[in-house]
Amino acid sequence: MFSSMKQKKIVTILGATGSVGQNTVDVICKNPESFEVYAVTANENVELLAATAIKVGAKLAVIANQNLENDLIKLLSDSDVKTRSGSEAINECAAHNVDIVMCAIVGFAGLRPLIYAIENGNNVAVANKEPLVAAGEFITNLAKENGVKILPVDSEHNAIFQVFEDNNKGQVYKLILTASGGPFLNWNKKEIDNATTDQALKHPNWSMGAKISIDSATMMNKALEIIEAAYLFDLPSEQIDVVIHRQSIIHSMVSYKDGSMLAQLGQSDMRTPIASALSWPDRLDTGGGILNVYELSTLTFEKPDIVKFPALKYAYKCLELGQGACITLNASNEVAVAAFLEKIISFGDIIKCNMYAIDNLYPKLAYYELKTIEDVENLDQTVHLAIKEYIVTKLTPKG
Ligand code: NDP
Repeated sequence: MFSSMKQKKIVTILGATGSVGQNTVDVICKNPESFEVYAVTANENVELLAATAIKVGAKLAVIANQNLENDLIKLLSDSDVKTRSGSEAINECAAHNVDIVMCAIVGFAGLRPLIYAIENGNNVAVANKEPLVAAGEFITNLAKENGVKILPVDSEHNAIFQVFEDNNKGQVYKLILTASGGPFLNWNKKEIDNATTDQALKHPNWSMGAKISIDSATMMNKALEIIEAAYLFDLPSEQIDVVIHRQSIIHSMVSYKDGSMLAQLGQSDMRTPIASALSWPDRLDTGGGILNVYELSTLTFEKPDIVKFPALKYAYKCLELGQGACITLNASNEVAVAAFLEKIISFGDIIKCNMYAIDNLYPKLAYYELKTIEDVENLDQTVHLAIKEYIVTKLTPKG
């Protein structure tokens, strides 16, 4: 007799309280027959973490900020959910054997948990692009050594993953990443430089966390994605292009040497790439919209303006310079975006920091040896300090 019973996948959600984390929860709750949640983690949002743990029936909830563990214990006192706190607890949680770990922490902070997950043989669904930018080769090699599958969640990379023939890489002409262009596509340079945080946080097509929203406005998000694609698909920068596609319907394309171009289309809804990564090679009902082609009017494609948005140019430059430059760009950008969100620097200053980091700072740091993950972390920290100093000495008005 055939059994229709499929085994549930056991999932850990790192960064469960964020935008990708909550969309992941949504997909899992719509498909209770397909998933069981082992653990959920967050940085500080203890209320949402506790509520999420109960909602998905997690066995463990981990909060990075140790000062909040007592709050978490109180919030979960009527449940069976176990609690832990601190970044080491997050690493151990990532390492616990499950079928797939959703990596949805924001920023470089997600690097260690991602490595712990891979080293312990967990397949990983990766939304968290910054670790791939800073340590892409290290991570992809580690995944190969451990027989671990990296399933991209970033909508562009997930789109490429769906139409990319890994075995036939030699037949690929180009990867074409689509970009909406962000909220400032039609603004002039002066208006962009003086944009407020509220304006920069308002993405025209996607609802996302604060950092990626600012990155989309500077187009640094697309720059990070160029580097992410180079490592994930192991292709040189000359084979990675960006096209402005304002409607965010085509999520990316692969152009093959015979003239065929394969694309993945869908609504601007992160639940689609999340479901695709979590259930790969199967497909799930996400509860999100199915694309109705009759409702599409025009799909447009434009060349990006690298004078207004120089971030793209810097992605190619960093790939040419190597891993140290990618770490430098990522670290500088994290410091600059945080300073902008705290209203310490202007929007235009974000790119100033990143240009300074690559043009002036990196040449002095190029001697750094990058053999281990600790080396990567040391360089990241050095850049953090240097950019903070640059902001204080060169960008902050003296009162
Ligand atoms: P959010 O800011 O919405 O969420 C980030 C999550 O990470 C939260 O759960 C947060 O916890 C947690 N977190 C933050 N800092 C730490 C830390 N130091 N240690 C442990 N956990 C931490 O981000 P997004 O969901 O928007 O993005 C997550 C990642 O996915 C980013 O790398 C982004 O570039 C990428 N991505 C996002 C997309 C989107 O649609 N949002 C699309 C494609 C990629 P807390 O809530 O407690 O602060």
